[in-house]
Amino acid sequence: MDQGTAIVLITIAALLGITATVAIVGRRDREVEEGAESPFAVSSEGMTACRHCGRGNLVTDDVCLYCGTPLPNHEEFG
Ligand SMILES: [Zn+2]
Repeated sequence: MDQGTAIVLITIAALLGITATVAIVGRRDREVEEGAESPFAVSSEGMTACRHCGRGNLVTDDVCLYCGTPLPNHEEFG
């Protein structure tokens, strides 16, 4: 195998890797956009769900950890 052939093969392999990465990341982004919910399981036990983004926050938090919206726990439990 001469040097030119090796460079061509390496370039093809690199392009395939980049293409696969872009395809995987793109598909993951589309899935996140289509389903409004997180792809990860979210436990809300012992937590306060944010009214704005719906994610769980500790009951001791004053504002949402994810979007900064004030949490209602002080009004309900205070
Ligand atoms: Zn939030």
